Amino acid sequence: MLTINAIPAFEDNYIWALTIEGGELAAVVDPGDADPVIEYLDKHGLKLGAILITHHHGDHTGGIRELLHHYGELPVYGPAGERIPALTHALKEDDTVTLEDLHASFRVIDAPGHTRGHILYHGEGLLFCGDTLFAGGCGRLFEGTPEQMYNSLSKIEALPDSTLVYCAHEYTEANLGFAEIAEPDNQALHQRIAETRRLRAQGEATVPSLLALEKATNPFLRSHQPELIEAAEGFAGHSLNSPAEVFATVRHWKDSLD
Ligand code: ZN
Ligand code: FE
Repeated sequence: MLTINAIPAFEDNYIWALTIEGGELAAVVDPGDADPVIEYLDKHGLKLGAILITHHHGDHTGGIRELLHHYGELPVYGPAGERIPALTHALKEDDTVTLEDLHASFRVIDAPGHTRGHILYHGEGLLFCGDTLFAGGCGRLFEGTPEQMYNSLSKIEALPDSTLVYCAHEYTEANLGFAEIAEPDNQALHQRIAETRRLRAQGEATVPSLLALEKATNPFLRSHQPELIEAAEGFAGHSLNSPAEVFATVRHWKDSLD
C-alpha cells in the first residue's frame, strides 16, 4: 500500500515522501532541500527513485541537483511550461505519471495561477497540489490571473470529496484566521479552527486534509456561497457578478491583511 509521509523543510514546507511497504525506492514531491530528504531516506533504508515537481519556485526545486548527485540519474517529472533543473519528463494536462516501483499512477492537471505553469498530480485518492490549494487557503497569484486561479481551483473542486489534499506548506492556522473573518458564521469552519489549534499545539501537521473539509471551510473554494459573496461584496463596496469575481475579491482581501 502506498504511504505518504511529510519531510519538513525550511520554516513551513512539506516535502512529501511516497513509499510502499517492503519497497526500496521512494519518490518525493517538491524537494526544495536535499538534506532532510537524504536524512529521511537513510533513516528508513530507502533510495530515491523519482522526483515530482509542481512548479519552479526554489523552495520546491532547490534540492533536485544535490539529490541527483547523491542518488544518480533518476526521473524528474515537472511542468512542461516552466524551467525545472534536470527535468526529464515535461508534463501537461492529462499526462500520466506511472511510478512502477510504488504501483502508483497520477494524472497531471494544469493549474496556472500561483505560477504560469503550475501542475498538480492526482491519483490513488491523493492530490499533490504544491502552492495552488492550501489547507484553508490558496497560493498567491505571482504569475497568473485571478481568472486562471479560479479555473484551476474549480478543477480541484471537481475531484471526489474523499480526495486527500497534500499541499506544500503548513499555513493552515493563519489561513483559517482569514477564513473566519470572511465567513464568521460557518460552523464547520469553527470546528476546523479548534481542531487545527489542537494539532498545532501538539506540533502536528494539519496536512493532508480532506477535500470535503476544504469545500466546507476554505473560502477559496466557496465563491458560490451566499454568505461569502455578501462578505466579498462588502469588502469590494459593490456587487460582484460571477464566482470568479468573488474569488478575485476574496484573494485581494486576504492579500490586503497579510
Ligand atoms: Zn511557490
Ligand atoms: Fe512554496
